[in-house]
Amino acid sequence: MSHLPRETRSEADAGLGGVHRFGSASESLFRRLYLRLSRQRAAQIDGLQARLSTLQQRQQSQSSQLERLQAIFASLEEGIIVQDTSGKVTMMNRTAEAMLGGKRNFWGSALGTLFEQYRHVQTTSAELMPLGESDELPLNNRIVRAQLSAIGDESNQRIGTVMILRDVTHDALALRLKDGFVAHIARELASPVNVIKLAGELLMAQPEDAAVNQRLLDKLLHNVDMLDQLALELLDIAQLKAGSLDVLREPLRIEQVVWSVVNGMDAALSSRGIDLLVMTRGISGLHVRGDDTRLQWALGHLVRNGADYGREGGYVAVAARGEDRGGKRYALVSVSDNGIGIKPADMPHIFERFYRGDAAQAPRGLGQGLFVARAIAQAHGGFLNVESREGVGSIFTLGIPQVAATG
Ligand code: ADP
Repeated sequence: MSHLPRETRSEADAGLGGVHRFGSASESLFRRLYLRLSRQRAAQIDGLQARLSTLQQRQQSQSSQLERLQAIFASLEEGIIVQDTSGKVTMMNRTAEAMLGGKRNFWGSALGTLFEQYRHVQTTSAELMPLGESDELPLNNRIVRAQLSAIGDESNQRIGTVMILRDVTHDALALRLKDGFVAHIARELASPVNVIKLAGELLMAQPEDAAVNQRLLDKLLHNVDMLDQLALELLDIAQLKAGSLDVLREPLRIEQVVWSVVNGMDAALSSRGIDLLVMTRGISGLHVRGDDTRLQWALGHLVRNGADYGREGGYVAVAARGEDRGGKRYALVSVSDNGIGIKPADMPHIFERFYRGDAAQAPRGLGQGLFVARAIAQAHGGFLNVESREGVGSIFTLGIPQVAATG
């Protein structure tokens, strides 16, 4: 078969033997490799399966974390809005939705504009990077403080936006009213102080032996009274802020209280062309226990309001009577006017602190008067109610528990 020389044949045999050896060696190598690989693959598969199940667990715990997070977001007092890179709103909690008056209002609102302002920002310096300072924005008749932040990933790429919103309407209003209140007090103080100063200077300029100028003294005393009233008003407001209002419980005749108020205001009202009518017939027996100065203040405020929200040539009528209400006997004093009346929408709010109805129509005041007047009535165990028709007029009724005459 073979014609090769012997040496050559043996070389060839050796070569073939090498190939054979190599073959069997490589075969076992491949087998080992295959075994190792398949073991590795099995381990990999096991590992993959293990990772998959941890991933699934993590996903489960993440989604329960997400649910928990969403529940927390839902219960937050702050509004939270989360947007993706394109600006699409991916999450909005209930508070934010209520602030906006519905999800759909987002892009038409000041929040939409705020987002656009920072849309171009692509990179972040932290996981949550504030975009500008927080700002007060008008939102659906409220004032909202909004802070916009970019959400960044590990490589500081912006992957979304979060807005945190806080309703600051009350704070903003209170601040505005506080400024208004100080200005109002300054104005109220200025006029009696000027009159007192002038009257004092005139009295000083009189010769020492001259008879006392009664008119000047009257003016002086009247204006001192006005300052006294103002001081009382301020004190009541301060006490109400502290949550308590103490009133005296002196025996009083309601007729006296009514006449003190009417006599003090009659001239001022008639100079404005407003008639002040009084109906007190048959009430001389109406007795209460109360704080004369504070009741006068409350009644005086109702009369002043009747004139302020009255019409030229109109009237303010003060009428007192006794009446049973809920098995209890009350001295009732009503103050009615034929003025502008109160809009139905304003009615539920006029006793709220700082509420002023249509401010354009309101000639003065801070919207505290009725709040204080009702607090005075309630501190006496009584009440202050209102009935009104827009364009027709209003009736305020002050009720104070009646007591038997103490003589
Ligand atoms: P203000 O200091 O503004 O008068 P008040 O607490 O006394 O505050 O009254 C609250 C609001 O109630 C007023 O701003 C006004 O809109 C309304 N109001 C009060 N009294 C009358 C009235 N007699 N007629 C019409 N509106 C009234």
